[in-house]
Amino acid sequence: MSKKNSILVVEDEEDILELVAYNLRKEGYQVTCAKTGEEALHITRAEMPNLIVLDLMLPELDGLEVCRYLKRDPQTQHIPIVMLTAKGEESDIVAGLELGADDYVTKPFSPKVLMARIRAVLRRRQRGEIGPEQIIAVHDLVIHPGRREVLLDGKPLDLTFTEFGVLHLLARRPGWVFTRYQIVDAIRGEHHAVTERAVDVQIVGLRKKLGAAGAYIKTVRGVGYKFQE
Ligand code: CA
Repeated sequence: MSKKNSILVVEDEEDILELVAYNLRKEGYQVTCAKTGEEALHITRAEMPNLIVLDLMLPELDGLEVCRYLKRDPQTQHIPIVMLTAKGEESDIVAGLELGADDYVTKPFSPKVLMARIRAVLRRRQRGEIGPEQIIAVHDLVIHPGRREVLLDGKPLDLTFTEFGVLHLLARRPGWVFTRYQIVDAIRGEHHAVTERAVDVQIVGLRKKLGAAGAYIKTVRGVGYKFQE
């Protein structure tokens, strides 16, 4: 368990990018860099970093948009985000925090302060909920988010993109009740339109494929669904 945390730094200004990357590497983190929002989304999905340092002022796809995409995607929504902001961006800071970013540092910042914020966020996360990359195992059922794979009794299940999203969302927080609306909101990818009614259809399909393990998905009458042994 001595695996180093990996951190993605997103910043279009070369000097700041280098400063942040240098300090992170000095602290022993594995660092990846991105200079645009598109690159940030691509790298995040491919490498699943443990944390993202995200500048809000990026050309084209800005930091808030990146944050919105990542926090909406069930695969990436639990990756903590520390925003880099400029003075006078208060409304953007608020918007970012409301979108799910964990913390922010205002430019010009002291690298020491940024490092301390990052350590604090990682510590909170490690104590808290299960991250996106962590494998979930319940008896014969193993959910491998990194590979988007579900094994039942050691055999891979053929789940659709949406079915996987629903199962992973529920299983990540056992006992939590999710409303249909919350499920729709969480699994709505950039390319999919999902209705609340469609959630019920997904659940039916999912239970069928899960066989006996389908009983872990409980219907909460009048509310939605939860995952429970
Ligand atoms: Ca910038």
